[in-house]
Amino acid sequence: MLRVDLRALDRGPVETTATVKPDDPALHDVGFALAEPVRVSGRLSAAGPGQFYWSARLVTSIAASCRRCLKDITVAVEAPLDVLFTEHADSDDPSARVIPARTTAVDLGEPIREELILAVPEFAVCRDDCRGLCPRCGKDLNSGPCSCAPEPEARWAALEALRSALPPDER
Ligand SMILES: [Zn+2]
Ligand SMILES: [Zn+2]
Repeated sequence: MLRVDLRALDRGPVETTATVKPDDPALHDVGFALAEPVRVSGRLSAAGPGQFYWSARLVTSIAASCRRCLKDITVAVEAPLDVLFTEHADSDDPSARVIPARTTAVDLGEPIREELILAVPEFAVCRDDCRGLCPRCGKDLNSGPCSCAPEPEARWAALEALRSALPPDER
């Protein structure tokens, strides 16, 4: 159900429900791994001559790895879809997608793909307070401290040295 017959809209809004599988051509090469199909639900309605408004929501999840501890995680993804399909090429509506005049069907695959790509976070963490891996021994610090000596605070030490070199009234 990624193509909707616009002639059906003469009888009123059309419910749009779709389950887009990860191997669907519309989701080819998105740049991340879907952990489940993308579920889309919403409605398409006529919005004046040559215009159709689609309001929907997409829900899915992706397989990723925590950027701090590298553990495999599943990240929930959800996004609204607000699209105005219009025959008016000069539309200045930011949600407008121009369609040819007298089109009889619209393809929802492309807007789903675009919104999904925008909604997927560039970086994911397993939890907000993930402590990550020790940069020296690689131990997962979520399971306790490692035996490396604490990192010397090199930058602060340098600042402190500068400060103590100043005359007392300028510190
Ligand atoms: Zn993590
Ligand atoms: Zn360590």
